[in-house]
Amino acid sequence: MNNSPDLLVIGGGSGGIACARRAAQHGAQVAIIESGPLGGTCVNVGCVPKKLMWHAGQLAHALDEAPGYGFAPVTVRHDWAGLVERREAYLRRLNGIYQNNLESDAVEIIRGHGAFEDPRTVVVGGRRLQPQRILIATGGEPLIPDLPGAELGLSSDGFFALRQRPQRVVVVGAGYIAAELAGVLRALGSEVHLVLRHGRILRHFDGLLGEVLMQEMRDAGIVLHTDSGIAELRQQGAALDVGLRDGRRLPADALIWAIGRRPRIAALGLAAAGVELDGSGHIAVDEWQATSQPHIHALGDVTAAPALTPVAIQAGRRLADRLYGGQDGAKLDTHMLPTVVFSHPPIGTIGLSEEEARARHGDAVKVYQGRFKGLYSALLEHKIQSAVKMVVLGPEETVIGLHSIGPGADEMMQGFAVAMRLGATKRDFDGTIAIHPSAAEELVTLR
Ligand code: FAD
Ligand code: NDP
Repeated sequence: MNNSPDLLVIGGGSGGIACARRAAQHGAQVAIIESGPLGGTCVNVGCVPKKLMWHAGQLAHALDEAPGYGFAPVTVRHDWAGLVERREAYLRRLNGIYQNNLESDAVEIIRGHGAFEDPRTVVVGGRRLQPQRILIATGGEPLIPDLPGAELGLSSDGFFALRQRPQRVVVVGAGYIAAELAGVLRALGSEVHLVLRHGRILRHFDGLLGEVLMQEMRDAGIVLHTDSGIAELRQQGAALDVGLRDGRRLPADALIWAIGRRPRIAALGLAAAGVELDGSGHIAVDEWQATSQPHIHALGDVTAAPALTPVAIQAGRRLADRLYGGQDGAKLDTHMLPTVVFSHPPIGTIGLSEEEARARHGDAVKVYQGRFKGLYSALLEHKIQSAVKMVVLGPEETVIGLHSIGPGADEMMQGFAVAMRLGATKRDFDGTIAIHPSAAEELVTLR
């Protein structure tokens, strides 16, 4: 037990573990404090369980579609409780792997809630640590609105705790989580109402993506309530009575709030540490992940960086490389950030939307786009819509945005992100021989 390690990390999630292990691999003495299961949001109530649920939804769609390919229609019962049990058992294995990895890198794991007593001292349980440097990687938590009965709704954490599939679900929100959870629940058989306060889902993504996704959601039977909102929630026996702002009422077995997340900083003692927040309430950091206290760093969802696991991991590893690995210039680089929304069908996107590009570069922006129905749909009754868009800049037509929705879009974009980071132009895309027949080829054959 060393109360003055070189580095003390508060938060054993994606970013904290990445930084702790890399720093230890460079020879630093490191301890990490975690109040919950190791792995943080991504492993326990985020990316991993979400993707497993998405796979279940994909399989449900495939079963529906199988008759198009000559399979006799089948009626299969889905065992939600069984899926959740297998999912959670897998997550417990992952928790163990994270623990083993930390231990094999000689990182001390301290269980409990860490809080600053002063800028140099962190208290956990009865223990007071005074490390050389401190990293805050405490992540985020779901937002619940302030309206009557709001606490009767679930957050995404509550969704993952469901041991039975609710039959009638209201999902509120318009971002990643709303799109993903509404899709999974519908695919597995729930009646889903999606309540959006504006006219489009994924409003902060390229407009084409939300437009196509909303059509696919409607075709799948999701009821979309646009320009709407929740006024109140009431318990009615075992069910919920959901009051919309326009006076309509929806009976439901569950309501899921998916309206964003906020940094997890309550009870962290930031005032005692003298660590300042930015205008959005996140911990303010510079490009080197330094806070207003030079020996205290912060990264991941607790900062205003894009709230994605690979972003937190890169920030963590590069910080450790710089502080302990002699790599002076190492820092987070989100240029041409790729991201996927695991909706049904999925969305993959890199760089700027058309709207962002036009706001930034005006008439120097040109757009190539196409809508199509992939070959998989050829034999199906319901033709799944796909769409791609390329946003290019200047006479050399450098590709600054690439967007795709449709089957396969989730696995299609990673390699294109490499090309875009290297400055690929439309000509480079055009000069690349297509993979045929595929959905990805649409991106190298745009006219
Ligand atoms: P976290 O992973 O949240 O880790 C923070 C840790 O700190 C937690 O374990 C917490 O218990 C601990 N902690 C907090 N305060 C204290 C304290 N005072 N003392 C001790 N411990 C403390 N990203 C993707 O890239 N792809 C996806 O598909 C994806 N899906 C998601 C789905 C959902 C439903 C959600 C909610 C998020 C998803 N994300 C996804 C986002 C991703 O999970 C986060 O961006 C990522 O986990 C952030 O990592 P972090 O290290 O900043 O924080
Ligand atoms: P998001 O920020 O993605 O979306 C929340 C959306 O909800 C807002 O954009 C807003 O859309 C809408 N909203 C906000 N406040 C209200 C309100 N009071 N009432 C109704 N709607 C409201 O947040 P999420 O919670 O979906 O996810 C949090 C973050 O986690 C994501 O931003 C992402 O970084 C990460 N994540 C990543 C995933 C992935 O990589 N696949 C999956 C899940 C999460 P509008 O303004 O249009 O109304």
